[in-house]
Amino acid sequence: MEKHDVIVIGAGISGLSAAYHLAKRNPDLDILVVDKAKSYGQGNTGRSAAGFRDMFSSRINHMLSSSSISFYRHVQEVEHHDLGMKFVGYLFLAANNDRGRTLEKSMKNIPGTRIVEMDELRKTIIDSKLNAEVAGMLSLDPVEFGIFGKNCGVIEPDLICNFYYSSLKEMNVKFSFGTNVEKLILDPLKKLNFPGEPFLWQDKHVGSIETSNGEFSAEKYIIAMDAWSNTLLDPIGIDSHQRPKKRQIFQISGPSVEKLLFNDHFSSYGILPFTILPSHGIYMRPAEKEKSLWIGVSDDIGRDFTFMEEPEAETDFYESSVYPILTAYFPQLNDSKVTSKWAGYYSYNTIDKNPFIFRTMNAVIVTGTSGSGILKGDAIGRVTAALAGDMENVPLYSGETINIGDLGVARRKVDAEHVVL
Ligand SMILES: Cc1cc2nc3c(=O)[nH]c(=O)nc-3n(C[C@H](O)[C@H](O)[C@H](O)COP(=O)(O)OP(=O)(O)OC[C@H]3O[C@@H](n4cnc5c(N)ncnc54)[C@H](O)[C@@H]3O)c2cc1C
Repeated sequence: MEKHDVIVIGAGISGLSAAYHLAKRNPDLDILVVDKAKSYGQGNTGRSAAGFRDMFSSRINHMLSSSSISFYRHVQEVEHHDLGMKFVGYLFLAANNDRGRTLEKSMKNIPGTRIVEMDELRKTIIDSKLNAEVAGMLSLDPVEFGIFGKNCGVIEPDLICNFYYSSLKEMNVKFSFGTNVEKLILDPLKKLNFPGEPFLWQDKHVGSIETSNGEFSAEKYIIAMDAWSNTLLDPIGIDSHQRPKKRQIFQISGPSVEKLLFNDHFSSYGILPFTILPSHGIYMRPAEKEKSLWIGVSDDIGRDFTFMEEPEAETDFYESSVYPILTAYFPQLNDSKVTSKWAGYYSYNTIDKNPFIFRTMNAVIVTGTSGSGILKGDAIGRVTAALAGDMENVPLYSGETINIGDLGVARRKVDAEHVVL
């Protein structure tokens, strides 16, 4: 059986970033990263809307995001490894009601955010008023102000993964792609070699993993499977504290899309900020290369938790639920066409929407990225690697320190996140 010091299961951004920080801190460790896909970043990392923001209501989410954004910026600007990072900003459109004011309150102390008054919005992106009848029928809040964050924008997850992967190869970390982990095998810490071990009364650990390419073992395991976590954790009785929630993206194109997309008011990139509508969790992500907008939506009640290996985006859902809202706010998008679509899963922490990073036996589990695992990926990897190295506190790239237990289960200490997209 192949033996290693550490096996990381999952080569998405969380697994790669954790392996990177572990290898940086312990250059002599023998680390193996396994993934069932043929390459890295093929899970939900490759299906993301790839927006980044530091606009969170939870203190820890803000720490994780702002540190990761600074690190990615350093990689791109100082190490000259292009991550496709563009600071086009995030623009939340809101109404003067409880929801809008709560959002404003959560964002007001975040550096680099500002209120955008209606005059400015009218001159730049909003050119018509909501039709009252349509607004009533679709339960739409009017746009009455905006909140713009400038430490935010869009990025390319495959380029971030490529940065971690190439750095890991240089540090001699091994990879085994096309390796489906079928089972975590529990062993007793003190083997008696009786059939049926481990028994209730024996201390246990993960002894090895059974995979499509044979059995591997390690001293420690990092389980970075996010939305897939339950497939390996449920059978051995570990709660992942997340549930997979399907998320879809519809790419729309056409002359009216291009007119809205190419906008030089908010940043020097000349493209629209990542824009969030006031109602029903719909957002527009600028996709400059494709001259398109990616439309995403964070629907909740009515969207089941069933997990499918290859989820598909539903055209009917777009046409009946998303398009009417989009065109109520932006009637000019009437002529837009869906030119591509895909779906994936959020690994949704349904309670507080902050990640879970905790240890059970000799396994560190990272999950519950709740729709923002790319933009927090670097810091999540630092915390995971530090926990695998038995540390209690971890310095982030930003210089701030996180008490690792705060993101765990037993001593969890986080504020609930209200701004999940
Ligand atoms: C539609 C959509 C939009 C999103 N938008 C954003 C956004 O704008 N910004 C943002 O920051 N985040 C966004 N996210 C969330 C983000 O994509 C995730 O939080 C992030 O990719 C999680 O990374 P991960 O490495 O933890 O998981 P994953 O990338 O899913 O990696 C898990 C890996 O585990 C592997 N695996 C699973 N089972 C096994 C097995 N049995 N054996 C071996 N390997 C296995 C998979 O192949 C996969 O590579 C979005 C997600 C979706 C679906």
